[in-house]
Amino acid sequence: MMKTHTQPVIGVLGGGQLARMLALAGYPLGMRFVFFDPDPNACAGQVGPLISAGYDDTRALDEFMQRVDVVTFDFENVPLSTVRYVQQRRAVYPDPDVLEISQDRLLEKRFFQRLDLPVGPFFPVNSFSELAFGAKSYDFEGFLKTRRMGYDGKGQFRITPGADLKAIWQQAAGQPLVLEKRVGFKREISVISVRDSDGQILQYAITENKHNNGILATSTAPARHSENAQKAQEYARRIATELAYVGVLVVEFFETGEGVLINEMAPRVHNSGHWTIEGAMTSQFENHLRAVCGWPLGMTDSWGYAAMLNWIGSVPDIAHMPKQPHIHHHLYGKQPRPGRKVGHTTITAEGPAHLQQKVVAFAKQLSDSLNAAG
Ligand code: AMP
Repeated sequence: MMKTHTQPVIGVLGGGQLARMLALAGYPLGMRFVFFDPDPNACAGQVGPLISAGYDDTRALDEFMQRVDVVTFDFENVPLSTVRYVQQRRAVYPDPDVLEISQDRLLEKRFFQRLDLPVGPFFPVNSFSELAFGAKSYDFEGFLKTRRMGYDGKGQFRITPGADLKAIWQQAAGQPLVLEKRVGFKREISVISVRDSDGQILQYAITENKHNNGILATSTAPARHSENAQKAQEYARRIATELAYVGVLVVEFFETGEGVLINEMAPRVHNSGHWTIEGAMTSQFENHLRAVCGWPLGMTDSWGYAAMLNWIGSVPDIAHMPKQPHIHHHLYGKQPRPGRKVGHTTITAEGPAHLQQKVVAFAKQLSDSLNAAG
């Protein structure tokens, strides 16, 4: 892999908050950015040039390629054909081969199985009778998911003993599906790794995640240590090595009493790694850029403890909040809409007990300000 020169221009396919935070990490290093997104209001466009065109618009893609040295993406559902087209003229990291796997839940699970890594029970579903059979064999405790284009709880249907399978089938049918048995997990964790082209892999502290309706609500790191968590780090390392991966790779796990099961992987910077901006020596964003540009990676050690709270559907009135040294707000410049991620706040502390106190104090401050606003 070639090292980019000192002031590279990085092309990012997808112009959401992840692209925006990549740029905010890259500017102090002299990097520049061009974003490509079909949405002319994509929020990365507020911090750098945005080419807005369809992912199949080869003229716009040609212009994009002309303006950049190296390409990455902030969204794993960028059409494979787009990424392959770009790859003919510009280096793309991580390699688009990983997108082929991660865009399809079934291929992804089979990929993990091929590496002998643990995944929960699942069953491909292409007909109502397969759904009925699968649901029964999982005691009606499961999740029916679209194989493609699912994220933030989208394309998911909860199967419960009282669920109306016929109604679920009517909503879900017409696309490839996979049924997963519900995993009775103790906690959800993610492993954030970064690998450079020489094969060096660094990992951040294990992160514990809580979801609401399938959307990430909070992440805390370093999470409580366990033998399972250590296993999770080893599995993530194996995946990154197998894929000859370049950049940040995030693997999400369910931790049960018996061990860890892989839920899914994200071949990009990830919401559960936002705490690394203030909580680690080098953020996931900077390290992703370093890997993509062939620059030396930065240390991934934590400074202390961090908790990240997502703003979903609305943002707090930070203009009227006092600035506190351990509270770090990030608003993405997006129009609030129900279920939409519009910002996050990271709270940092020296120890876990201290962190807990600060989170409670912040929650109280927030509810006081909401009450005052009536
Ligand atoms: P996903 O988009 O597949 O990561 O699912 C979002 C969230 O839904 C997960 O982080 C879990 O909290 C929950 N979930 C999804 N699949 C399962 C499962 N098979 N068992 C238990 N919880 C699940």
